[in-house]
Amino acid sequence: MSDSNSVVSEGKVVVFHYTLTTDDGEQVETSKGKDPLPYLHGASNIVPGLEKEMEGKSAGDTFKASVVPAEGYGERQGPGPQSVDRSEFPDNVELYEGMAFTAQAEGGQEVPLWIDRIEGDQIFVDRNHPLAGETLNFEVEIVSVRDATDEEIAHGHAHGPTGTEGHHH
Ligand code: ZN
Repeated sequence: MSDSNSVVSEGKVVVFHYTLTTDDGEQVETSKGKDPLPYLHGASNIVPGLEKEMEGKSAGDTFKASVVPAEGYGERQGPGPQSVDRSEFPDNVELYEGMAFTAQAEGGQEVPLWIDRIEGDQIFVDRNHPLAGETLNFEVEIVSVRDATDEEIAHGHAHGPTGTEGHHH
């Protein structure tokens, strides 16, 4: 029997290590060799498919989760990357592949965009997250589980592994 205080459920801050690999075997991200990642469970801080797999797990558990695009970063949508001239971007901003930014759509709402690739002065931007359309294969190790502080619940995110790290935002 595990202590119910260390079981992942809504209102818990979970600290975990992970490695993320796509179906073609490319390792996208890993926390190995770095600090584990804290998140607030039930607040959509991580992709929905992984959050579901976390539910009910305990500190010390290790598991693998395969997350389909619909529960990850979504299916790819739209016409694909569109070419934009470099001059449309501010001169003083360094652009790179995979960079996320927001543009203002007609009507004023903010639209998230990512740079797909750069070919000279042509910047190819896409409305899809770089991992849209990909099945996400996670290897997870849960390091710790604790109650979130009132402030973390109010903010909708974790404030570091212990909740006392203060603000970086
Ligand atoms: Zn905060």
